[in-house]
Amino acid sequence: MDVEIITIGDEIITGHTIDTNASFIASRLMDIGLAVKFKTSVGDNVEAMEEAFRLALKRCQIVITTGGLGPTDDDLTKRAIVKVFKRNLVFQEEILEDIKKRYARRGLEMPAINQNQALLPQGARIFPNKHGSAVGINIAEDGKIFISLPGVPSEMRQIITDEVLPYLKALKTGKPLKVVKLRTFGLIESRLAEMIIPNLKLEPGVRLAYLPSPRGVDLRIIAQADDESQAAEKAQNLTRYLDSVCGKFIYGRDDDTLESAVGQLLLDNDRTLAVAESCTAGELGMTITAIPGASRYFLGGVLAYANEAKTELLDVDEKILIEHGAVSEQCAMAMAAGCRKRLHADYALSITGIAGPDGGTDDKPVGLVWIGLASAHGSYAQTFQFGSNREYNRSRAVFAALDMLRREILDIT
Ligand code: ATP
Ligand code: MG
Repeated sequence: MDVEIITIGDEIITGHTIDTNASFIASRLMDIGLAVKFKTSVGDNVEAMEEAFRLALKRCQIVITTGGLGPTDDDLTKRAIVKVFKRNLVFQEEILEDIKKRYARRGLEMPAINQNQALLPQGARIFPNKHGSAVGINIAEDGKIFISLPGVPSEMRQIITDEVLPYLKALKTGKPLKVVKLRTFGLIESRLAEMIIPNLKLEPGVRLAYLPSPRGVDLRIIAQADDESQAAEKAQNLTRYLDSVCGKFIYGRDDDTLESAVGQLLLDNDRTLAVAESCTAGELGMTITAIPGASRYFLGGVLAYANEAKTELLDVDEKILIEHGAVSEQCAMAMAAGCRKRLHADYALSITGIAGPDGGTDDKPVGLVWIGLASAHGSYAQTFQFGSNREYNRSRAVFAALDMLRREILDIT
């Protein structure tokens, strides 16, 4: 059962709106074992929509569209549907009552143009919309399933989750599928592959993908089998293998992040953390505190950009700055040690580097970052050479710092 997703709207094809609807739908369909074969986008134009719908119905069994179901003149999806399926629009009293009630609850009278939204293709099944007035439309004909949803992401998501997925699942089309994402940090994709490939034996129906991002490389396992427990077992077997060959680079799975993994480790070990940031200027603290409940282990941070701030707020010896400079092993260690002492923390992380795009020298090129870590066992620092992009360098430094602390707590070398 192949699926085609068609997203509709001039704003999508002009690039003004990023097509998040298609990626949301595709990933949710994958969870239930349905593969998207094509993704198409089309503007607010009835002829173009007709063409896209016809082609999709020819090459896929399931077609899902989003957008263009609103009450205004630029919402043309229903016009294309009635042409393709040769059906009339019929007025549905109950739908109109629902829309009127929705407005009444907000103390408003329904604008007359919303009456359009109670006009629906004859014989179509309706998917109710909890967050808006455009209902989802479902037409099943000649072995094909056509589903049309509103474009507003929150409305589309609710209908997909509550209505479309259970409906498609009940058709018992796709084989059960288990998806597991193992999240790694510290190795580039090809190095990971070198560790994984030599003894890798993929069972039938199991796929492994490498997904790199600044947050590391995710290893995505997709296991398909005749029933759910078999799929889960296949995924589990591959997880075990990956753990055995590159486990120390795996910091979590699925929705885990480095900051949530580190937070959990600090909580489990009853330890506290403080940070001293130069080139990231607060991004590390912000990332750590994006996790609800971070106050249970995060004490605070010092944003020490200028040399004077490093000496005054973190007790970095002036001599270090003169002899080695602010971007140096010695300075990173001193920043971490000073921060740990000043904030009475169990651990302190420091970041000092040259974020770029200017300010590099032959000795200390743009992208050079030193990260320090102070604990009850003393201080040390590690150097990283990132690239030329300022934003990217700063976030890489934040994640590298978090990973250093993760390894310290777990005693991984
Ligand atoms: P409405 O009742 O609001 O008119 P609609 O079904 O007609 O709903 P559109 O008018 O196509 O939907 O889109 C409404 C808004 O939803 C757009 O302004 C856009 O911000 C967002 N949107 C539409 N399609 C997408 C998409 N594919 N990805 C992300 N956002 C989208
Ligand atoms: Mg609209």
